Amino acid sequence: MTPEIGIDLGTASVLVYVKNKGIVMNEPSVVAIDTTTGNVLAVGEEARLMIGRTPGSIIAIRPLREGVISDYQVTEKMLKYFIEKVTGGVSMFKFFKPKVMVCVPSGVTEVEKRAVIDATMEAGAREVFLIEEPIAAAIGAGIEISKPNGCMVVDVGGGTTDIAVISLGGIVESTSIKVAGDTFDEAITRYMRKNHSMLIGERTAEEIKKTIGTAYPREEEVFMEIRGRNLVTGLPELREISSTEMLSALKECVVQIADAVHSVLEKTPPELSADISDKGILMTGGGSLLWGLDKLIQKRTGIEAYVAEDTVSCVARGTGEALNSLKYMSHNSYKKKY
Ligand code: ADP
Ligand code: MG
Repeated sequence: MTPEIGIDLGTASVLVYVKNKGIVMNEPSVVAIDTTTGNVLAVGEEARLMIGRTPGSIIAIRPLREGVISDYQVTEKMLKYFIEKVTGGVSMFKFFKPKVMVCVPSGVTEVEKRAVIDATMEAGAREVFLIEEPIAAAIGAGIEISKPNGCMVVDVGGGTTDIAVISLGGIVESTSIKVAGDTFDEAITRYMRKNHSMLIGERTAEEIKKTIGTAYPREEEVFMEIRGRNLVTGLPELREISSTEMLSALKECVVQIADAVHSVLEKTPPELSADISDKGILMTGGGSLLWGLDKLIQKRTGIEAYVAEDTVSCVARGTGEALNSLKYMSHNSYKKKY
């Protein structure tokens, strides 16, 4: 039997799902490159640990992140590395000739899609399909997308938030905004600089977000001690910050997400929006774990919003499972390439 593989090529992380095996890989989409030779030095977690810690000649980049997609060759190298990693070498992959479905971020260009397809084919796939993220997310969350029922998916990733209304296996109404997990980190960094005269690194900002990040007022305030560099003295310093501060730091970006959800609902045909208010809004992606984001969307729309059970791996699983449901999917939700 042909193995079936689903790859969630995200702006923040790459997950690989193999049918009957489950998620076999989950690594950050980061590549470390030696700028003098152009060689790839490390990929994935190993490369992530280098972010902000590299000497002059090495850079750690996220090839799919908003604005940095310029180098599609790096994307290709990264994808190849991951495929080889899960298959234990190209030869085995070639021997079994799997069918591969890849979910690409909504912002990627045609050139990058081409690079993804080429890299996957070159790694030995027999057939490659590309799928839109909201469709994959819905399938992964167990929604029967082939039914004439409307469902709404809000996927908050690293680089983009994708909002879509799905019915009969296709996207009826959608939007994608460049406000997501990375934007939250940047907002926190800005807040710390402005209100605490403190410089913090990218990874510290993410840690703050995951620990005390807040999108909706909490009943009980939480605190965290963080380390950064005082901009005035230039020395390292320890500071305690609160979730209430994070609420004000993140307010602007989370409101943009809630507004975008609202505007998609406004454009949705009434029959479908009735279905949505019946079943609720499904939230997926790592960014949906930001504390209170579901509550905020619920408040803004009056419709219950719920985070998918395994929100981080939902898209990868849906991507793999989509290979079984091609006949139920509309042709604009996936593309087949040889
Ligand atoms: P992509 O699909 O673009 O690769 P993911 O769905 O993997 O993105 O989500 C990555 C984003 O989710 C990152 O910005 C990460 O910081 C964020 N994230 C992960 N866990 C949490 C959490 N517990 N709270 C808030 N944000 C989180
Ligand atoms: Mg994603």
